[in-house]
Amino acid sequence: MVSDEALAALPKAHLHLHLTGGMRHETLVELAATHGIRLPERLTDEIADDWRVLGWARFQRLYDLARGVLRTRADIERLINEIAEDEKAAGSRWVELQVTPTGYAVRLGDVVTAVEVFCAAAEAAQRRTGVGVRLVVAANRTRPPWEAEMLARLAARYQDAGVVGFGLSNDERVGRVEDFAKAFRIARDAGLVAVPHAGELLGASSVRRTLEELAPRRIGHGVRAAEDVTVMSALAAADVACEVCPASNVALGVFEGHEEVPLRPLEEAGVPVVLAADDPLLFGAGLLDQYAAARDSHGYAASELARLARASVDYSTMPDEMRAQTHTDIDSWLTLRDDSGRDGLD
Ligand SMILES: [Zn+2]
Repeated sequence: MVSDEALAALPKAHLHLHLTGGMRHETLVELAATHGIRLPERLTDEIADDWRVLGWARFQRLYDLARGVLRTRADIERLINEIAEDEKAAGSRWVELQVTPTGYAVRLGDVVTAVEVFCAAAEAAQRRTGVGVRLVVAANRTRPPWEAEMLARLAARYQDAGVVGFGLSNDERVGRVEDFAKAFRIARDAGLVAVPHAGELLGASSVRRTLEELAPRRIGHGVRAAEDVTVMSALAAADVACEVCPASNVALGVFEGHEEVPLRPLEEAGVPVVLAADDPLLFGAGLLDQYAAARDSHGYAASELARLARASVDYSTMPDEMRAQTHTDIDSWLTLRDDSGRDGLD
């Protein structure tokens, strides 16, 4: 079996990670103390427990409370730097951090300043750690479409500063996908990749609508496409990847357990699968835990784990030269292991 150390040595990219959700727990607690914010017990010592009982609304409320500890430019710099350090330790060479600037605008000044702060912090973190840090600006689907269109235009203006994608997040059951088509057209026309969430709280038809209306490059989650073979075929035909976040799905009750997360059904239907962590802070599981789940709950051998890592690289926005080098390094990683899945040399 591939060891935990070998999983960390596997070169990869992380394409579905929310800014607040990427915070270290000790940083959350420290920043709350610094700013005199009292956190609910759920966010102090009982984190990542029974989310499925609490449901989405409670999860979202706690996420918003956690975001409330991020008050200053220095907080954001610290957070993104620590995220880059943690990604590096997980073998990740490239991270696309998802953030909804309107959620931070009041504390950081305004929405434009917020984007500038994120971009500067991402660049500084990349300089310090060597990990490529880029941003996905995500609209909140519980807000009106004009706000999404405003954010798409803003995201487009900051491409040179590190914004690579445009997303759509929050409660999938709220709002109509087609109402966000214009925002996504603005983003795509500007050269951003479209990476909306879908197929998490709603089923395969939500994935189909998202595919048809928003022309995504990847879908955040998308796992419930597995409920309909025709939707999986459509994803495969359009070459759209699913960002599968197993620990998040299990925590939020999308699936009963890790065994039910449809990694193999998606891959066998030709859908590219990219593993990601979503919100390690709240679910208690980072990027490596997702690879470990593929290994432990789905019996993924070394060659299959390498395939997941390759997909994360191929569906990322990393520069071609870096992509080629990472492919070479994934191949080298695999040659150190025989294809039965046992580690050869470690
Ligand atoms: Zn997400």
